[in-house]
Amino acid sequence: MQTKDAAVQKATEFQTLTLITPTADISVACHGGRAKCLQRMIRLGMPVPRTVALSFDAVHDIAAGQVPDTAAILSAFDAGQLVSVRPSSEDPDWGGPGAILNIGMNDDRHRALSDTLGAEVANALYLRFIKTFAVHVARLDPDMFDGRDNSEATLRDALAAYEDETDEPFPQDPARQLAEVLRSMARAWEGTTARLLRQAKGAPADAGLGLVVQEMALGLGPDESGSGVIQFVDPVTGLRQITGRYQSQAQGRAALNNGAGVLFLTCDSRGASLQERCPDLFAQLLHWGEISRQRLREEMEIEFTIEAGVLKILDAVRVRRSSRAALRIAVALAEDWIIPREEALQRVEARALTELLHSQIDPTGPRDLIARGIAASPGAATGRIVFSAAAAQASAARGEACILVRRETAPEDIRGMHAAVAVLTERGGMSSHAAVIARGLGLPCVVGVSDMTLRTRDKMLKCADGRVFREGDVITVDGTTGTALAGAVKMLPPALDDTFRTFLKWAEDVCDIGIRANADTPADAQTARDFGADGIGLCRTEHMFFDEGRLTVMREMIFANSAEDRRAALDQLLPMQRMDFISLFEIMSGQPVCIRLFDPPLHEFLPHDREGMRELAEALDLPLSDVTRRVEALSEFNPMLGMRGVRLGITVPEIYEMQARAIFEATIEASRRGDPVVPEIMMPLVSAKREVELVKTRIDAVAAAVRIERGVDFNYRLGVMVETPRAALRAGEIAQHAAFLSFGTNDLTQMTYGLSRDDAGKFMGSYVQQGVFPEDPFHTLDVDGVGELLLMGAERGRKARADVVLSICGEHGGNPESIAFCRAAGFDYVSCSPFRVPVARLAAAQLSLEGQGASVGRRKE
Ligand code: PEP
Ligand code: MG
Repeated sequence: MQTKDAAVQKATEFQTLTLITPTADISVACHGGRAKCLQRMIRLGMPVPRTVALSFDAVHDIAAGQVPDTAAILSAFDAGQLVSVRPSSEDPDWGGPGAILNIGMNDDRHRALSDTLGAEVANALYLRFIKTFAVHVARLDPDMFDGRDNSEATLRDALAAYEDETDEPFPQDPARQLAEVLRSMARAWEGTTARLLRQAKGAPADAGLGLVVQEMALGLGPDESGSGVIQFVDPVTGLRQITGRYQSQAQGRAALNNGAGVLFLTCDSRGASLQERCPDLFAQLLHWGEISRQRLREEMEIEFTIEAGVLKILDAVRVRRSSRAALRIAVALAEDWIIPREEALQRVEARALTELLHSQIDPTGPRDLIARGIAASPGAATGRIVFSAAAAQASAARGEACILVRRETAPEDIRGMHAAVAVLTERGGMSSHAAVIARGLGLPCVVGVSDMTLRTRDKMLKCADGRVFREGDVITVDGTTGTALAGAVKMLPPALDDTFRTFLKWAEDVCDIGIRANADTPADAQTARDFGADGIGLCRTEHMFFDEGRLTVMREMIFANSAEDRRAALDQLLPMQRMDFISLFEIMSGQPVCIRLFDPPLHEFLPHDREGMRELAEALDLPLSDVTRRVEALSEFNPMLGMRGVRLGITVPEIYEMQARAIFEATIEASRRGDPVVPEIMMPLVSAKREVELVKTRIDAVAAAVRIERGVDFNYRLGVMVETPRAALRAGEIAQHAAFLSFGTNDLTQMTYGLSRDDAGKFMGSYVQQGVFPEDPFHTLDVDGVGELLLMGAERGRKARADVVLSICGEHGGNPESIAFCRAAGFDYVSCSPFRVPVARLAAAQLSLEGQGASVGRRKE
């Protein structure tokens, strides 16, 4: 040992390596995570074989051609000792070159091992090393080294093949072997592909690689010998469960090569488990598993060998895990007081929470991909194809799960979407109708599937590979990956269990920005409540008018020729609206509810085909020509920029008046039955102060009338949706009449870019791929352009009215990066689809824990 330590000491002086001891100067920043973890294991007293670490700098020098004195490195080990080299990057998730084992294997060692362990074992070890060296170091074709068996002849062939290809014999000098291995691993790390791959996982461009050189513990020898791995949780569910593999030498030499005769750590029909075979060794493994959980503060997978009945622990790595397992593990560690709750919150990626909220395709099953598009709403579902909302409803009535496939969806498809288990559209982008509604409903959705050809009339869709699917065929939509698959596939159910709720509660405790939900229906509101939303930030009331029984009345209103007739039609809708609001208020039990007044253009409520118009003429007892004329009169070249939102509110005031009355009457009723309600009423698509003044005057008048009629007082708050660039620019004067400003970043993005949110899907992929846009601006807030309007609007609004409440209610409200922006800008809350509330909550909690986004403004809720 004296001489070996002296050798290490000498090598250390040249800064090539550090022997890992409990007190050695090893750090993650210099030597990487694996080296540090091995040191921790050694400190805990685990039986780790002798290991030396090469620093990032040393490996960088090696890649640049300065290979260290490898003979000196090897002199840190017993003479003739085989060694392994493993990568040690700063973060294990950044990857690194694969480990290379059995370095030092040569003709001499082969002879010696043949004497002690038998020729077949020695052949197998040598063959394995030759192949690894040939493929990963000399970069030869692996096919040439696929030996049939572990015979002497196969070994000779492999050595000959190496010599043929490289014009030199297989290197025999262990120091040269090690030098070549180090060089190839160092260079692999610096290669462009590896760099891009790790950068995609968040590694900085100059991330370093350390290497650890470890004495091989072969798991070969007399008595019980073998090698294996063990872990203590299920990587898919995160539940406590011991799994692993153990391959005993006693199972025969063949086991070395083909994995046959593996003894599972847990009992298995194939034979005795390690537990039964060697209970003492198994108990030692359990002991080290518990110690590593307690002290390394993680669920680790332990790699071990047993040599002549003696346990060696070679390595321990974080158990790879699904999102649901990550959450369960983090909560269990915190509940066992191993890590603080705050750390548990930071250990789960916010975005990954969506995987727990929906059914997911089991990652272990096969997939038959038929189409690819934009992943618009996560989760997966299987059902029969239908091509119309009516067919979806009929299918649901038969109790048959269906997938609604449309060119794009429109408001009249709402009921069909409700009836479907997933939606697939040929057109559209992240904030097109189908995407927004599906996210609200928690429905898996893929939009912009441009590689499929849809023939609605023939009730068929053709995929890029020529396959044709017809109505009734079963497919699976995976909204998490943006794919459609043929047939049914194996699914994992949602994981909304107590662990999930506990975790969400912890996030609520540290979150310092409000998280509200965009909820239109009682079902949405209930989901919002279940996910702990702080209220409703956007209730899109127009969806209420597409309900059966309301659409005809709505159409009557549209066809009315006078204000009086319009009022008469709207009077029929009033009690229904009142009921809508009462149930929302009741479900939200006193939490704020922000109701947006009617927003879409009226023509969305009219039929578009002749058949529909004929039916409508019949229903309204009007000549068909009257109906066609009115439909034509209401059609617009650019409906999204036409007569909608507050413009409709000003030109057809009866609609807003009815809605305001319904809100106030519901306020009185809900407050009488339960918690007091202070409704928030929001005007959409405002671009001028005068619009706000006009609508406010009318709403205040309705409030006054309701107060007098009912003899009851109530409060309400009027606010403005800032979704036109002009509203953001003029936020100062607008805020004089608005208690709150809520940025509708879907329309604001559309109008700032001059980019249709419903058509962007067609070219967004290409735009992002070519770097025109760094990301889809309908998905991640464009902080440079749209963000500047937000900051400007917020600042001007606040200057005019210090207590104005600021929020965002576009789809960006559920996006972690956009939440960081809003938090830093001092917004009071974000509002997003109910199913995104947990993600938004965790993202905000993590930001507050990181102390990020130190206030540009102020924060209240
Ligand atoms: C918006 O425009 O950002 C918004 C929330 O409203 P909608 O998506 O209904 O247009
Ligand atoms: Mg809008």
